[in-house]
Amino acid sequence: MNFGANWQGKTLADNLELRGVPRRDFLKMCGALAGVYAVGSPLAQMPEAAAQEIADKLGAVKKPNVAWLQLQECTGCMESTIRSGGATVEEMVLELLSVNYNDLVMAASGTAAEQALHDVNKEPHILVVNGSVPLKDDGIYCTIGGKSVEQVLKEAAENATVVLAVGACAVYGSVQAARPNPTGAVGVDEIIKDKPVINVSGCPPIGEVITASLTYILTHDGKAPEVDAEGRPLFAYDQRIHDSCPRRAHFDAGQFVRSFDDEGARNGWCLYEVGCKGPSTFSPCPIVQWNLKSGWPIGAGHPCIGCTEKDFFDKFTPFYKELPNVTGFGIEEPVEKVGLGLIGAAAVGTAIHGGMTLFKSIPVRDSSQDDKTLAAFGDAPVAEKKES
Ligand code: SF4
Ligand code: SF4
Repeated sequence: MNFGANWQGKTLADNLELRGVPRRDFLKMCGALAGVYAVGSPLAQMPEAAAQEIADKLGAVKKPNVAWLQLQECTGCMESTIRSGGATVEEMVLELLSVNYNDLVMAASGTAAEQALHDVNKEPHILVVNGSVPLKDDGIYCTIGGKSVEQVLKEAAENATVVLAVGACAVYGSVQAARPNPTGAVGVDEIIKDKPVINVSGCPPIGEVITASLTYILTHDGKAPEVDAEGRPLFAYDQRIHDSCPRRAHFDAGQFVRSFDDEGARNGWCLYEVGCKGPSTFSPCPIVQWNLKSGWPIGAGHPCIGCTEKDFFDKFTPFYKELPNVTGFGIEEPVEKVGLGLIGAAAVGTAIHGGMTLFKSIPVRDSSQDDKTLAAFGDAPVAEKKES
């Protein structure tokens, strides 16, 4: 893959033409990005206009240098980025960016790879990071080229204009940081404090959301997007799953799946009672969906596990159990009553941002279970109610 010379002095539009990438493919990708930006924008009503605007801005971008680190992680985030289900997004991501360093997609290895990172680190660049940073025992649990990834990250961040932490691992440590956190894993913003760190949350995040976060920076003169309290781009993460869920009418009507093979499951009823964390989770999954809008977990009959929320592995396990006494919408009623329709949909609609309050009221797994295997499959007792 040629990441170099062709870019010099040329815009993205020139470069795509040079490589024979059809304009309609580029517009198609911009349409997918417009779908993500539209989650929190009035442009939702005019996606074609938005796609054209993105294409114009993006087409004029010149040679953005990118270092893309993969630290303590599983490569799922990178797979999500480059294998989103259609050629458009994955090819464009690689065409869009001068990815000077990435373990997975670069041809170089060993000394040549280290040199490539050294070279990109010297120039201003966008830094994308997947994976957590293990701090325990001098960082021996993840090293690159003999250096701890903490050191690799600090060096790469020094000349970075903006840092994107992509995936739950990079955002706060995710499963590696789940109690008892044996490697002392932390997220990128625990290490990099002197510049903006944008948290593109999820395990993994949707490919289009990763791409949209990058292209936002490219089309806004390197500026970071507005973020929420968790550092997530508001354009994608300003709505709860629950507020756009197609099963929501069943929640409001008190129609719940109680086991995965019951009548409710066959009828597509609400998954709250089999563990859905959609009421506490901010993500555009129902709108953007996965693999070029071909599906998403709740659409396939699986409860949301809340993977875009901080500490979801500690807070939301057992995944297949309804956590006790989850209050509804940051206001008074327990969710069961909401499900029975004691609070109407109109009242619910006014409480969209009450979700943050709700999140804080979710009970967490009891710390006395810290040395036990996490009950991801619902086979352990549910913890006593405890405020986070
Ligand atoms: S966030 Fe999830 S998908 Fe991404 S690297 Fe971590 S474990 Fe893998
Ligand atoms: S609880 Fe889950 S399945 Fe039910 S409406 Fe909310 S997000 Fe959808």
